[in-house]
Amino acid sequence: MPGLSTVDLKGKRVFLRCDLNVPIKDGVIKDDGRIKASLPTIQLLLSKGASIVIAAHLGRPKDGPTAELSLSPVAKRLSELLNKEVKFPGEITGKAVTKLVGALMPGEIVLLENIRFAPDETSKDEAQRTSFAKELAAFAEFYVGDGFGAVHRKHASVFDLPKLLPHASGSLIDAEVTVLKSLTENPERPYGVILGGAKTSDKLAVIENLLAKVDVLAIGGGMVFTFLKAQGKEIGTSLVENEMLEEVKALIEKAKQLGVTLLLPTDIVVAPSFSSDAPPTLVSVDEIPRDQMGLDIGPESAKSYAAQILLCKTVFWNGPMGVFEFSNFAAGTKTVAQALTQIKGMSVVGGGDSAAAVRALGFQDSQFGYISTGGGASLEYLEGKQLPGLVALGLA
Ligand code: AMP
Repeated sequence: MPGLSTVDLKGKRVFLRCDLNVPIKDGVIKDDGRIKASLPTIQLLLSKGASIVIAAHLGRPKDGPTAELSLSPVAKRLSELLNKEVKFPGEITGKAVTKLVGALMPGEIVLLENIRFAPDETSKDEAQRTSFAKELAAFAEFYVGDGFGAVHRKHASVFDLPKLLPHASGSLIDAEVTVLKSLTENPERPYGVILGGAKTSDKLAVIENLLAKVDVLAIGGGMVFTFLKAQGKEIGTSLVENEMLEEVKALIEKAKQLGVTLLLPTDIVVAPSFSSDAPPTLVSVDEIPRDQMGLDIGPESAKSYAAQILLCKTVFWNGPMGVFEFSNFAAGTKTVAQALTQIKGMSVVGGGDSAAAVRALGFQDSQFGYISTGGGASLEYLEGKQLPGLVALGLA
């Protein structure tokens, strides 16, 4: 399949799958990183004289359309960033959309409504997905896949549609794959991975897979407490996944056997409740009170994580060290992010949420080696899984 840069798309209608899944609160976009990351491919297609039908998702709608998950604010922001009208029909398919798309002139853009409002987009039934993909294929003569944050999903617009049209990957997906490949194939050592966030179950498989590849593995966030409980410690009312305890014990053992430096916190910031004004207290990891929950790693832990990170030549980071959204519990994430900006080597921030976290804490994109737009997708790539959206584009 020829690369996008060499395909002639003059006067052609292109279906472009983007990842425009940005955090929105009360109709206001909180971080437009993923929209900005989608611009180069859109601009390339415009410069080639194509017209573009963009599809993207927002959140995880369960029962069809809702106002909160409409892409309408995204259409507005995209239009501002491109300095160009972005037509927004407010639907995905139907007569009005077909008419609007059919009348597109070269250089014009339509953004379809949240593609996940259509239940067939995410259906487990291949026939349903294919039938929906055929409806979408009728909109265009060429498909470009550029929504990296969704490539781990076997969804109609990601996996089934590219089979129905000539296709190519966009520049964002190309860049993401190049960076992740360098991490999996030949990382400069020492290689450190920092994993945080809320759930252990999301990250256990990646931890297991990475243990054989990394020199340092640092654990932060809500995950910490499943690890501490597995070591027999009191964790109070902290987040915990009891069904993971045995697996976590096995991982701790495996890290020892492989000689991986597994970093767990030695101090914790606790509070009586999960709220922004809950009074924080710093305690040793052996003295978490029964009626308090851990909401951040403590300063001693953060300092020791930072020191290890600074020794690394390659670092991948996914997931905050604490509840960074509350200023009382953001210090651990900030210290680790700061260290990441100072390493002499390649730092990769993986995930839209982690990227939004470092921006919210005042860091600039340019302070990191690479900011990936896909959290789940980059983790699954590092796990060594074949990602449906990359398979469909011939990239896996
Ligand atoms: P994830 O989507 O799994 O990366 O999780 C990100 C979320 O984890 C953020 O919204 C944080 O507020 C949350 N988080 C981080 N540390 C903790 C903790 N100690 N307890 C509860 N939630 C946490």
